[in-house]
Amino acid sequence: MSPSFHIAIDGPVAAGKGTVSRLVANRLGFVYIDTGAMYRTAALLAQRRGVSLDELERVTELVKQARIDVRQPRDDEQDGRLSTVTLDDEDVSWQIRTLEIGTASSQVGEMKPVRAELVRKQQQIAVDKNVIMEGRDITYRVLPDADVKIYLTASEVVRAKRRHQQLLAKGIDTSFDEVYQQLMDRDQRDTSRAADPLQIVDEAWVVDTTDLTIDQVVTIITSRVQAMIDQHRHHA
Ligand code: C5P
Repeated sequence: MSPSFHIAIDGPVAAGKGTVSRLVANRLGFVYIDTGAMYRTAALLAQRRGVSLDELERVTELVKQARIDVRQPRDDEQDGRLSTVTLDDEDVSWQIRTLEIGTASSQVGEMKPVRAELVRKQQQIAVDKNVIMEGRDITYRVLPDADVKIYLTASEVVRAKRRHQQLLAKGIDTSFDEVYQQLMDRDQRDTSRAADPLQIVDEAWVVDTTDLTIDQVVTIITSRVQAMIDQHRHHA
């Protein structure tokens, strides 16, 4: 068995990747890495510096020079967040969770040199660790040799409802229609872009969560992974 176990998850907007990954990581004692948070932070950085997303080179330069980190929330950071995200040591975990940054992050996701930079960072984080990493290109670009590859999805309406609820719970006042439209636009951009678009790889285990509770999804994934780990041990 390789020294570390890698679970790679891809899927469209608001499929539940973050919530599910955090819970599976907690149950298995794995490190959870939210790669979307890095694209969101890159978008926030460009916005703050007043750099337009049309300026590929300037955005790339900003990302290269910034320190973007994603880690497990500390005890004093338990406020409902799934990860703590820092930009040059400033906690931006909540500032990146707006609809506006969501849209901007998917424009950043189209930038090949930015992807190269973030993918390198993500691969470094995973070395020698048991990780569950989620995003749009994890199953074939970031962790092509992952032990388990999952494509997590749900119907568009259910995903939009879940995301709408999440935003309202955070006090972000927005209509269902706005959330639905943004979700459709972002999925469209993420699946049709030239650089590493969201796709279902041949060996992916497709998990449709439309009619499942979070707990059911977490149990299905945890059980399968635990069985694989036990089997590896048995044969070791
Ligand atoms: O997962 P989340 O919705 O936070 O990701 C924000 C955006 O970042 C996505 O819409 C996508 O464009 C981009 N992204 C990506 N590759 C990843 C993770 C996110 O292109 N691995």
